[in-house]
Amino acid sequence: MSSVAIIGAGITGLTAAFYLKRQGVPVTVFEASGRVGGVIQSLQRDGYLAEFGPNTILETSPKIGQLVRDAGLSSRRRDPDPKADARYVVRYKRPIPMPGSPLGFLTTELFSARAKLAVLREPFIPARRDGKEESIAEFVQRRLGQEFLDHAIDALVAGVYAGDPYNLSVPQAFPKLKQLEERYGSLIKGQILGGRERKKRGEVAKDRAPKFSFDDGLQVLPQVLADSIGDSLKLNSPVTQLRRRGAAWTVQTSGEGSDGGAEYSAVVYCGTAYKLAELQVEPSPSLDLSVFSEIRYPPVASVVLGFRREDVAHSCQGFGMLIPRVEGFKILGTIFSSSLFPNRAPAGHLTLTSYVGGERFPHLASLPPDELFALTCEDLRVLLGVRGKPTFQHSVYYPKAIPQYVVGYGRYRNLMNELEQTAPGLFFAGHYREGISLSDSIVSGCNVADRVAQFQRQPASRAAEARQLA
Ligand SMILES: Cc1cc2nc3c(=O)[nH]c(=O)nc-3n(C[C@H](O)[C@H](O)[C@H](O)COP(=O)(O)OP(=O)(O)OC[C@H]3O[C@@H](n4cnc5c(N)ncnc54)[C@H](O)[C@@H]3O)c2cc1C
Repeated sequence: MSSVAIIGAGITGLTAAFYLKRQGVPVTVFEASGRVGGVIQSLQRDGYLAEFGPNTILETSPKIGQLVRDAGLSSRRRDPDPKADARYVVRYKRPIPMPGSPLGFLTTELFSARAKLAVLREPFIPARRDGKEESIAEFVQRRLGQEFLDHAIDALVAGVYAGDPYNLSVPQAFPKLKQLEERYGSLIKGQILGGRERKKRGEVAKDRAPKFSFDDGLQVLPQVLADSIGDSLKLNSPVTQLRRRGAAWTVQTSGEGSDGGAEYSAVVYCGTAYKLAELQVEPSPSLDLSVFSEIRYPPVASVVLGFRREDVAHSCQGFGMLIPRVEGFKILGTIFSSSLFPNRAPAGHLTLTSYVGGERFPHLASLPPDELFALTCEDLRVLLGVRGKPTFQHSVYYPKAIPQYVVGYGRYRNLMNELEQTAPGLFFAGHYREGISLSDSIVSGCNVADRVAQFQRQPASRAAEARQLA
């Protein structure tokens, strides 16, 4: 089997490398930074375990559990405390539990009677059939009304994408919503009927999927995958250029890791969209890679604070709270981290992980840590009754955090499809193509490994095709 170059040692690249290696395909992984995991960052200090990127993996596909087992991590997997299921949305400047049942919905104070009526009318609103690509805001206004958008969906979009519902595209960012409307004519009907079909496929809806982490945090997964790759992982090695000669690819880096001019039968790009825009490919593809610089990644700061239990009035029992823009707070939302996983804080303490910035307030994310701690503490004081000084504080700034699947994003996905067609042996995978969540990235890594292995099995025809195109 000829060798494969993988660019990026985030979870996508490491998953792809792990599965290719298991299939007997030699791999070399190039990572621009000095560490593995990409945006995953866990820190253990003073008895706290803090997560700055993703906090949990959602088990939306059987491939996720399989990876954990294949990596030998079953015994280190940690499922959250089942009591920590409640989710809160802020309204009237306080966290209110999200209803978990139809009766709960009818009685919740989260929505006015008018908004509840709008939701009950949803099954009778005709599906849009004119093919217009709607933003999330347009879609929700049409089907569920403005109040539901302002007080629920806006907060959800900030929590998932750090995004703006007026810019994100329904079919690109929340494709399942669009499919529900197309297939069942209604979100509510589709939610019920679609559940049966997902069950048949062995899939779970994102809101029902089990979530988990590991004993020492999420960083365990990329670290163990990286260990299995050994010396074939080259840190501090940003790939700047790809060159194709016939069916062979060579990789040029601007950093430490040299591969001695090795030739690869395939290259898998698992980096970020904005770095893809800087990559030089020779011979130049007919498509211009610089267009990928248009993909917006707003900045986000993750602020992890620890407090003495008695210094927080709210029980913080649950997953966390989402905060809609209309409520006027600076933080986007907070995860009750030590309620989910008790080992996140020392006994008698709790950990709260808050996010600042995103599309809502991009300028706040880059504030110095002390200012971030202060604004987060102030919001938590009003919302959760936090008093006293934090017993732990640390923040991480992501200047480019999460790609925004805006209206028209399909264009970039089409370009990637075209590039894969015109440059055989070049593959794209990861959060900028196949969904922004950690689980989407893992599934993308699994799938690209299969696609590359399949490509490897047809070397003669592919090589001829590549020579013709060269
Ligand atoms: C603050 C934050 C919170 C999040 N929370 C959640 C959550 O709770 N749940 C969830 O499911 N998801 C969450 N996500 C999203 C999820 O973590 C990511 O989508 C996923 O980890 C992306 O993995 P990836 O490997 O595709 O990309 P990345 O993690 O971005 O890794 C890409 C890697 O490629 C490297 N690279 C780029 N260009 C080059 C190059 N030219 N040469 C070499 N290396 C290169 C980069 O240095 C990086 O290490 C969160 C993301 C952020 C930022």
